[in-house]
Amino acid sequence: MNIEELFGCNVFSIGTMRERLPKEAFEEIESIIDHGGELSKKTADIVANAMKDWAIEKGATHYTHWFQPLTGITAEKHDAFVTHPDRDGKMIMEFRGKELIKGEPDASSFPSGGLRATFEARGYTAWDITSPAFVKETATGPTLCIPTAFCSYTGESLDKKTPLLRSMEVLSREALRIVRLFGNTEATKVIASVGAEQEYFLVDQQKALLREDLIFAGRTLYGAPAPKGQEMDDHYFGVIRERIGAFMKDVNIELWKLGVTAKTQHNEAAPAQHELAPIYESANVAVDHNQLVMETLKRVAGKHGLRCLLHEKPFAGVNGSGKHNNWSITTDNGVNLLEPGESPNENVQFLLVLACIMKAVDTHADLLRQSASNVGNDHRLGGYEAPPAIISMFLGSQLEDVVRQLVETGSASSLIQGGTLQTGVSTLPDFQKDATDRNRTSPFAFTGNKFEFRMVGSEDSIGSPNTILNTIVAEAFCEAADILENAENFDMACHDLIKELMTKHQRIIFNGDGYAPEWIEEAKRRGLPNIPSMVEAVDTLTTEKSIRLFERFGIFTKAELESRAEILYETYAKTINIEALTMVDMANKQLVPSVMAYVKELSETVNAMNSAGADITATGALLHRVTGLLNEMQSARITLSDIEKKGAAMERGREQAFYYREKVVPAMDSLRKPADELERIVDKAYWPFPTYADLLFEV
Ligand code: ADP
Ligand code: MG
Repeated sequence: MNIEELFGCNVFSIGTMRERLPKEAFEEIESIIDHGGELSKKTADIVANAMKDWAIEKGATHYTHWFQPLTGITAEKHDAFVTHPDRDGKMIMEFRGKELIKGEPDASSFPSGGLRATFEARGYTAWDITSPAFVKETATGPTLCIPTAFCSYTGESLDKKTPLLRSMEVLSREALRIVRLFGNTEATKVIASVGAEQEYFLVDQQKALLREDLIFAGRTLYGAPAPKGQEMDDHYFGVIRERIGAFMKDVNIELWKLGVTAKTQHNEAAPAQHELAPIYESANVAVDHNQLVMETLKRVAGKHGLRCLLHEKPFAGVNGSGKHNNWSITTDNGVNLLEPGESPNENVQFLLVLACIMKAVDTHADLLRQSASNVGNDHRLGGYEAPPAIISMFLGSQLEDVVRQLVETGSASSLIQGGTLQTGVSTLPDFQKDATDRNRTSPFAFTGNKFEFRMVGSEDSIGSPNTILNTIVAEAFCEAADILENAENFDMACHDLIKELMTKHQRIIFNGDGYAPEWIEEAKRRGLPNIPSMVEAVDTLTTEKSIRLFERFGIFTKAELESRAEILYETYAKTINIEALTMVDMANKQLVPSVMAYVKELSETVNAMNSAGADITATGALLHRVTGLLNEMQSARITLSDIEKKGAAMERGREQAFYYREKVVPAMDSLRKPADELERIVDKAYWPFPTYADLLFEV
């Protein structure tokens, strides 16, 4: 395998365009990629034609506009390049500029949250020139995929990409104002860069297919813990098993072909859990690539007889999966605004940027929290494993000390140094260690020259978190620039502003243990929001503060925000409804009959023993316990079924979502409890589906 040849071979990259397009057309494209603008019809036709020829060389017969509706996954509708055959019956392959730049999928089947009346089915997809087209190789054959934004007939965004692109432009504009203040006249834009570390589980496909919950809900809805979990810490970074290794190798190849820089792979904390991280890139491309990563993981798993579970909490009792969203901002002349340099205490631009980010995160902690919420993540956030549901910032001892000095005295004269790490072994090198240790429990941690937002769920698009990050930081930059651009004495004003912002927002900094119960109390004292679940988080989208922010920067209109809130409520209710129905179904058709069969055998044994005059103490006690739990399961099943029916009949919206959270979820827990208890004591020969031990340890 030659990585150099393989990498990006299925991407219509800038390099490919430079090779294949006439100079003028290429320059037009390049300028739009870098600085925006409208593509001329003539160039669109030229590019479309070149793209088609290139794709056909790759074996493609179809193209699709590839977009990211509010379902959180991607959508595609394939069209062949074919046209009417000519007079001689010969097929002419065609792809025109207008098909490249605009598509019109029947949008009525995608969530719109009331933005479109049902009779208005029109929606448009528009080519996102900043994310390269690619050829995807699947069982349908190679297909040319054109990344697009998805909007309604009236221009409202119906996807995750449009607001992200808007937020990137706004961040660039406002960040440029900041760097200009520090004399950077060369930069022409500022780019948000993102690297998303993706966690996932792999289980055996055949076993997964024996469990309705994995099929319908993507997670186990029943399941007693295996005798062994992750307590031995022997899986994290452990040797990768052969079957998994073969899978990872194929995933890498597929991703490299698509130009995704898959770089790091390792076993994660829980058994059967793994991670893949690519190298960071522009936020927009990173969001698209993360979708490709998720899709590829699933597809390649199938080929290896495996099933990839991207759900945030596929198994109770062991760690769930998240997605660490590494984010930084860099000028197009190569300055990372989050690079503290050798002496951050004297790096005024860095300190101003840091102060602005503190302000952004503190002011909009609720929105950040919301951006990382989805149905699955409710099992993680606040569950003492992933970051807690409370947003705080970790800066590390060195920067925290700088902030403290600035707040207390207005200047930071000293800097905690890292020093040398000495191993005490003469043959091992001594090396400079970082001035700051890591903190794995912080939801928003500074890690060297980037922030790592760790709350995001493993199955979710990273579109929303990055849209929020870009927007809230843009707002803080804008407000800082408004003050500083008009200052008579810039140095003094900047100094005062840094001190003011850090003082006002220092409550957001927390370097301690984010899982500790005392932190919840402490955070309450500090007035930091603690939003326990997804449905509560939805409200943050439509507060006055939020509407003002998003409308001011043109990210979302009020109507768009309201529609997104509607979609989230609906998604929540529908997802829980599927889970509840699946639980009831599994109980009806599998658990209850299996346990009854076991009860029958036990009763017969008891009777036989009785007739033989044997001691039935133990068998009788078991029978008693099993029937007791069976009764409990039966009644919990009936209750859940009734509660679910009421919920399903409710009108869609906030009230229904809350009903599902407050009534249906607890009823599900009540059914799971006796079932899991039974799993522990019922003869394995009777248990109707694979257990945690089968799934997690026998891949
Ligand atoms: P860590 O060990 O802190 O998790 P890594 O170097 O392993 O850091 O990087 C984790 C992810 O962060 C990778 O996807 C990496 O490409 C990304 N990353 C590294 N530097 C940056 C940066 N400046 N901006 C955004 N992402 C970055
Ligand atoms: Mg990391």
